[in-house]
Amino acid sequence: MVFASISDGGHEQVSYFADSETGLRAIMAIHDTTLGPSLGGTRILDYGSEDEALEDVLRLSRAMTYKAAAADLPLGGGKAVIVGDPDEIKSEALFEAYGRAVDCLGGRYVTSVDVNSGVADMDVVARETDHVVGTSGGLDDPSPITAHGVFRGIRACAESVYGTGSVDGLEVVVQGLGKVGRSLADDLLDRGASVAVSDVDTEAVEAFARERDVEVVPPDAVYDRPCDVFAPCAIGGVVNDETVPRLECDVVAGGANNVLADRRHARDLRDRGILYAPDYVLNAGGLITVAKEYLGGDRDEAYAEAAAIGDRLLELIDRADDRGTTVLEAAEAYAEERIAEGDRKTPAIPGR
Ligand code: NAD
Repeated sequence: MVFASISDGGHEQVSYFADSETGLRAIMAIHDTTLGPSLGGTRILDYGSEDEALEDVLRLSRAMTYKAAAADLPLGGGKAVIVGDPDEIKSEALFEAYGRAVDCLGGRYVTSVDVNSGVADMDVVARETDHVVGTSGGLDDPSPITAHGVFRGIRACAESVYGTGSVDGLEVVVQGLGKVGRSLADDLLDRGASVAVSDVDTEAVEAFARERDVEVVPPDAVYDRPCDVFAPCAIGGVVNDETVPRLECDVVAGGANNVLADRRHARDLRDRGILYAPDYVLNAGGLITVAKEYLGGDRDEAYAEAAAIGDRLLELIDRADDRGTTVLEAAEAYAEERIAEGDRKTPAIPGR
């Protein structure tokens, strides 16, 4: 059963670690290291079952391979899950044990922050291994860089759909005013877009609306609000069977991970004449930043690489048009071509 799940998804290695002293139960999945060491965060969740945890780590690690490959990074895809209620299991001892587990993979897997694991936790992991990014000694919060990549992606969509390389006058609805959404809204407003914002955290929206000239849209009404661009920057799965028919926009382009409930929704959007910019192409700025931290480089270089996301997206839109596919399919094909052309002799730990 486990071997079938691993080989069906094309994974290279899945490792289970348990430490009875600290209660650590972790699964690390390395999907593909053709292009470089696998990198992906550590998710801590109280999964309903071990199968559920395995399924999640396999899915997430595979997605990291595509994200890294589509961004031209010398990295592969990996991910880890720690099973348990974060409020109950998190301790320094657990993260030290986890750091030793990461270390024994010898750099084939590099870990970072994810749902329920943060910078302070990675600082503890770093006591035991060099193969960790997202620590306090790193390149700081990647969110503004992520947002800048999303902004460039939206500008590229405007060029493709309206023939203008500017967001001036564009109407954008930003869903989620967290670290990415807020920074994106600022970028858009600074360059002349008209922005409507929405968040379940009403205080955060109201505070932003006092600062900047934005319309506030209630969370449930966000899918019905006519606009040029709908920019999901909150949670995954917001483009689904229920919302696709409601959307009244020309473009869906945002920073959230897993925007589509299912990849078939990319086709549904296309059938409705809506351009969908793949989330992992647009939000690669976060990965670009932590890759710089691991492979060497600074924040300015990360900004510059994230700024190139617009050109990458235009390239993918052209490919999709030529081949009659969705942009998502074009992105997947591009990533797969890079991996197929990759030299497996690439050192697992470049520069080290
Ligand atoms: P965040 O936690 O700072 O912000 C998320 C915001 O969304 C919060 O303000 C929350 O109240 C709001 N929200 C939650 N559910 C909502 C709903 N149903 N409707 C409207 N608003 C809702 O997170 P973030 O770092 O800004 O990340 C946002 C998304 O971007 C996530 O999907 C994340 O995985 C993805 N992402 C982030 C980065 C990064 O660098 N931070 C990188 C890549 C991808």
